[in-house]
Amino acid sequence: MLAPVMIPHYIGGQRIGHVDARSQPVYNPATGEESGTLPLATAAEVDSAVQAAKAAFPAWSQTPPLKRARVMFKFRELLEANADVLAAQITAEHGKTHSDALGEVQRGIEVVEFACGIAQLLKGEFTENVGSQVDSHSLRQPLGVVAGITPFNFPAMVPLWMFPIAIACGNCFVLKPSERDPSSSLLLAEWLTQAGLPDGVFNVVHGDKVAVDAILEHADIKAVSFVGSTPIARYIYATGCAHGKRVQALGGAKNHMVVLPDADLEQTADALMGAGFGSAGERCMAISVAVAVGDKVADALVAKLAPRVRALQIGRGDVDGMDMGPLISAAHREKVKGYVDIGVAEGAELVVDGRGFSAPGCASGFFLGGCLFDRVKPDMRIYREEIFGPVLSILRVETYEEAVALVNAHEYGNGVALFTRDGDAARDFAHRIQVGMVGINVPIPVPMAFHSFGGWKASLFGDHNIYGPEGVRFYTRMKTVTTRWPASIRAGAQFVMPTSG
Ligand code: NAD
Repeated sequence: MLAPVMIPHYIGGQRIGHVDARSQPVYNPATGEESGTLPLATAAEVDSAVQAAKAAFPAWSQTPPLKRARVMFKFRELLEANADVLAAQITAEHGKTHSDALGEVQRGIEVVEFACGIAQLLKGEFTENVGSQVDSHSLRQPLGVVAGITPFNFPAMVPLWMFPIAIACGNCFVLKPSERDPSSSLLLAEWLTQAGLPDGVFNVVHGDKVAVDAILEHADIKAVSFVGSTPIARYIYATGCAHGKRVQALGGAKNHMVVLPDADLEQTADALMGAGFGSAGERCMAISVAVAVGDKVADALVAKLAPRVRALQIGRGDVDGMDMGPLISAAHREKVKGYVDIGVAEGAELVVDGRGFSAPGCASGFFLGGCLFDRVKPDMRIYREEIFGPVLSILRVETYEEAVALVNAHEYGNGVALFTRDGDAARDFAHRIQVGMVGINVPIPVPMAFHSFGGWKASLFGDHNIYGPEGVRFYTRMKTVTTRWPASIRAGAQFVMPTSG
């Protein structure tokens, strides 16, 4: 076993070792071994990252958008060339399979590609003659230093949802990645530097609540993007806003798939397997609840799903042919297992029990087998709460209306899917459902980089969705300039209220 490596911060274009005593271990979840030691930043260390960003801001914000875009083009090439390296790093600390990690990298690259178009995206609006010989133009300017606080489940993609757009808009960025899989963010930082990004424009500080609070309270940070669980998202939104910041805080989820009697059940079962158990269910867009309309659909679904769940290939993410890897930590595995215990105690029918699973050759890894519950009821905790693991619940309802009411009554509103062949039902569903991202025969409807991502209700706090056009709006503020030139001023003073006539 190798000695755990010291993981540095990245401030002002340099890897910075830490001097302070506070640190915590980082694990390889497939082996349970400690692979790294992570410094937990003090408020002073957060401040040094903010000062580096603040110092870089005047020159970076004055750099023409086209030149900023050229850095993004080079960064994109480096990501593409090193996708395997980044995916391997993700797998080593997160545990997801290499192919799934490559998918994560690809979705991140797409945001960089969107940011490459920043010159077009920042183009303003102009109106000639808003009044007689008076013109107006509106433009968007960067905010200054902005920060991102990200979760463990997409250690590369979620930071990539944020900083490419923030930076391309002319801001400088401080990232506080998840303390559980922090190393991917350092690769991103180094490739940005290689791509020609000036020192200080992008910084990484590792840490826990101390670092997060230092970010939320820092007077020089103008905006905070957060992705993580709902209780923390609520806290980030309230605290950040109380300190005068612009905040977008994306929270947790409980995503339903409603299955109508006319759906292709083979296709539906396959979609549920990928959406429920991919990445061991640790996705904010994972489907954790299938709502079967009618007992016939439910019985057929259970019959198709049970053997598939039992046949899941579970093991190290760096071994080919695995469907899913371990959970992120021993504590999280115990929490998910605890939910399965609760479901049994609540009276749900545990059709497949993955609690006893142990991955061959990885006895100390944080593995859990796939679990399938049937006859789950809306008042059960396993239905109401986010489990964030490989546990799929089936709820039975009698009608389509009941299914819609169930989804709409849930606290969360991140993603939802409807599986059907009925276009009329699909259109009605898309219109009435109280959820931010809707899939029709698409199990995980994550919007592409040129749309924007965001849930409703307890899945997002703030006005702006993340990335895409909403990202550009979030990381800029509008200025409107109204112009009159001397020829009309020479006409003399006017004392009446100006009107467009
Ligand atoms: P988390 O909320 O525990 O952590 C997210 C970030 O907040 C981390 O950087 C962490 O260091 C920080 N943090 C944790 N506790 C804190 C505290 N008490 N005070 C201040 N900061 C704190 O989330 P996680 O376990 O890393 O990620 C999983 C969660 O993220 C799930 O709930 C999942 O649904 C959600 N998620 C949501 C989306 C989305 O787009 N809506 C995307 C990915 C993940």
